[in-house]
Amino acid sequence: MARKKFYVTTPIYYPNDIPHVGHAYTTIVGDVIARGHKLKGEDVFYLTGTDEHGKKIETAAKKKTKNPKEFVDELVPEFKNAWKKLNIDYDRFIRTTEKDHEKVVLKILQKVFDKGDIYLGEYEGLYCTGCEAYYTERDLVDGCCPIHKTKAEKLKEKSYFFKLSKYKKKLLKLYKDNPNFILPKFRVKEIINRLEDLQDLSISRTSFNWGIKLPFDNKHISYVWFDALLNYLTGVGYLKDDKKFSKFWPADLHIVAKDIMWFHVVIWPTMLMSAGIKLPKTIFVHGYWTFNKKKISKSRGKVINVNELISITGNVDSIRYFLLRETPFGDDGDFSEQALIDRHNNELANKLGNLVSRVSGLIEKFGISKSAPKGVPLDMQDGVFGGKNKLLKKLNEAKIEKLFENYEFDKVLNEIFSFIDICNEYVQNKKPWETRDKKVLYELKESILKIADLLWPFIPESAEKIKKQFSATKIKKSEILFKKI
Ligand SMILES: [Zn+2]
Repeated sequence: MARKKFYVTTPIYYPNDIPHVGHAYTTIVGDVIARGHKLKGEDVFYLTGTDEHGKKIETAAKKKTKNPKEFVDELVPEFKNAWKKLNIDYDRFIRTTEKDHEKVVLKILQKVFDKGDIYLGEYEGLYCTGCEAYYTERDLVDGCCPIHKTKAEKLKEKSYFFKLSKYKKKLLKLYKDNPNFILPKFRVKEIINRLEDLQDLSISRTSFNWGIKLPFDNKHISYVWFDALLNYLTGVGYLKDDKKFSKFWPADLHIVAKDIMWFHVVIWPTMLMSAGIKLPKTIFVHGYWTFNKKKISKSRGKVINVNELISITGNVDSIRYFLLRETPFGDDGDFSEQALIDRHNNELANKLGNLVSRVSGLIEKFGISKSAPKGVPLDMQDGVFGGKNKLLKKLNEAKIEKLFENYEFDKVLNEIFSFIDICNEYVQNKKPWETRDKKVLYELKESILKIADLLWPFIPESAEKIKKQFSATKIKKSEILFKKI
């Protein structure tokens, strides 16, 4: 039987500034999910990248008197370095200025045009440059973009339109037939309400140059979202590598923040329906991070970039752990340095670090049972010798797997750390430093190895250290995993 596959994506990010905690969060979650599926022995493809066309990039480049390509070329390494520092193990970093992507955009535009789903019209509307999107009066707050809080400009231009409205019934049916298409489920109602007055979508611009020209009218530049969404096809080899594409498409999971939900759950499936391509299975919408209860955004002042984030504890795994543990995936979260330090000290250092260092020290001193005594039949063997590790039995692995599948990462970590508590209590109660009970130490070793496996998607560097240490023939006391702050 062929191995199961899993294809997960982050949105592609605008490289108009260096990455901050919001980008880091989405990308870490993607990495945790990708690693979790690798752990199950699946073939995983994890895609992230940058969205490099559009007016916003053109404007940002102009401000620095650079051409747009030069401008993005300088910022892309910032993203790649940040992901490297955060231990993000992606399979491709896609850039929408890459040749294979342009080909895909041209092909899909032509397909949708040939299908009769694109027509020339005129658009007048309220445009937010930050979003690269038009708004209806109703969506604006006092005439301002609800996300950027800047005044929307009135813009009128000839534009090609995509017949989005034609697909309203199909979209409703999609949500109804596929209850996991939009997660968390509470988001669906909002979308269904907004579908009430679904308008056709303007998909071309003549007001700027930085983008892909429409194949059927080269005076028009493709709307940046139409271009950007297609990265998910390009990323796994659409038009380029049929074998790879047919293996990984459709995507199993697109991770998005709530501000771009509409593009992913309405426009994206409609584009695919029109082009006759299978739809992704799930779009998971997560919340925003605030910083000490204030929204993180450039315009509001406080942005924490990835270097600052790492410097708080000096430990990448602490950040990864904190962001996944602090708030349920899907909800809004609040970031504060103190909360991060507290979790680093109380959970990673005191619970996990303590267990690892104590048990490894005891094993180094007293040794460990390695195998069953000779001559004892398997079914007569007690405790660890017969594989009946009484301690390990207290771990509910099935529950953890289920929680992981449901994207309840905070609960996964809670469950693992409850087991770490149990292990620490076990050491306390069994007092192996008095009893010199090698069997107890063996049970603890096996449990710690299991914990390392389960934590690997979240804190890969520390988990690998623990695994290496406890798989060695001579187990030695480790250096401190998490230095207390
Ligand atoms: Zn905006």
